[in-house]
Amino acid sequence: MKARGGNEHRGREKHRGVVILVGAGPGAPDLIAIRGADALRGADVVIYDYLVSPELLRLAPPKAELIYAGKKGGSDKTIEQSDLNAMLIAHARKGRRVVRLKGGDPFIFGRGGEEAEALARARVAFEVVPGVTSAIAAPAFAGIPLTHREHGSFVAFVTGHEDERKGESSAIPWKQLATAAKNRGTIVILMATARMRATLQRLSGAGLPTETPAAAVEWATTAAQRTVLATLGTLADACAHNNVGAPAVIVVGECAGLREHLKWAEKMPLFGRTIVVTRARATSSEFAASLRRLGADIVQFPTIETAPPKSFAALDKAIARLHSFDWIIFTSAAGVESFIERLKSLGGDIRHLGRASIAAIGPATVKIFSAKILRKPADAPVCPYPGANPNVRSKRLA
Ligand code: SAH
Repeated sequence: MKARGGNEHRGREKHRGVVILVGAGPGAPDLIAIRGADALRGADVVIYDYLVSPELLRLAPPKAELIYAGKKGGSDKTIEQSDLNAMLIAHARKGRRVVRLKGGDPFIFGRGGEEAEALARARVAFEVVPGVTSAIAAPAFAGIPLTHREHGSFVAFVTGHEDERKGESSAIPWKQLATAAKNRGTIVILMATARMRATLQRLSGAGLPTETPAAAVEWATTAAQRTVLATLGTLADACAHNNVGAPAVIVVGECAGLREHLKWAEKMPLFGRTIVVTRARATSSEFAASLRRLGADIVQFPTIETAPPKSFAALDKAIARLHSFDWIIFTSAAGVESFIERLKSLGGDIRHLGRASIAAIGPATVKIFSAKILRKPADAPVCPYPGANPNVRSKRLA
C-alpha cells in the first residue's frame, strides 16, 4: 500500500513540472553547488545564459533539451525577458523539470527575481539553488577579502548599469556609499565596464579619496582571468590601457589593496591555460579535475568512445575455451572491465581464467586487473606484447 501511494505521488509530481533557478557559479564549472549539479542531472530542459560554462551542460542527460537564452551584457539580449518568462512557464506546464541556469547566483542581478515573480504569478512551482556570485568569486580569485577587521566592515553589491528608465536620478545612494566606504567599507560593482569612469567619478565626487585602492577583475575564475589593481582615481585609465572589458567586477575600498600580498590564483602552475582533454568521457573527468587543481581551465572533448561490440560471438567463443590459452592479454582498463562483465554474464568467474599467463598493458590496466580479479598480482607476468621481447616475459605484474 505504502509503495503504491508513493508511486501515485511520484506520478502526479511528474506531470506538475517545476522550474529550478540554478546558480551556475562565476565561470569555473566546478564552482557550482552539488544541489545545482543534481538539478542539472535530472533536467528535461535547460535554459542557460551567456556567462554559464558550457562544461556544465554536460551534466544534463543526453535527451535533455538545451536552450540558449543569450543575454550578453544588459542590452544585447537574444531572447526578450518577457518571452523567456513565457518559455519557462510553458515548459513547466508541460510537466517538465526545467533548469534555468544563470551565471553566478540567480538572485544577484541578472533578473532572477523577475523570473521568479513571473513563475509565482503563473502559479508554476519553482525552486532556487544559490550559486557562487561573481561579486564574491572575482575578488576571491584576485586575492581580495571583502571584509577585514582592519580594512572593511561592510560590503555593498552595486550595479554599474542602472536601468535607463531611471534617468539621471540614480537609485543608488552613491554619496552615502562613498561616505560609508571612506570609513572602511568595500563596494563591489557589477556590470561595471561600460560606465566605469562615470561610476568611479560618482564615488570620488561624493568624497571617497581618489587614492582609495580599486581593482577590476575580468573573466574571473576562467583561464582568461585578469586583474588590474589601481586606485579610485586611476582605475578607469588603467583598465582602458589594458583593454579590460565585460564581464568584470570592480572592487573599491581599502580591502582591494590587500591583493598585493594575497594574490594566489596567478601562482598556480597552470593558471591562464585552457587545456582540451580528448580522453573518453568515462575517464576524462578525473583527469580534468586533476588539471583544474593545478589552475587550468578545461574543455572536455572526448574523441574516443568505448562501446560494446556489435556481436559478442568471437569473445564468447574465446571465453568458452579460456582454459586452452597460454596467454590472456589485456590492452586497456576498459578491456578488463568489459571482459569480466561478459564472463560473469555467461555465468563464469575468475576460475575460468585457468592457468593462462596474464599480460596487462599500461599501469591503469594493471591496476584495474588487480582490483577486479582476485589473483595476486605477483602471480601474473606482464609484458607489452608476448613474444615481442622475450626478456620481458620474466617481469611481474606490480
Ligand atoms: N548573477 C550574476 C551577475 C549577473 S550580472 C552573479 O551573481 O555573478 C553580469 C555581471 O556579472 C557582469 O557584468 C560582471 O560584472 C559580473 N560577472 C559575471 N561573471 C563574471 C566573471 N567571471 N568575472 C567577472 N565578472 C563577472
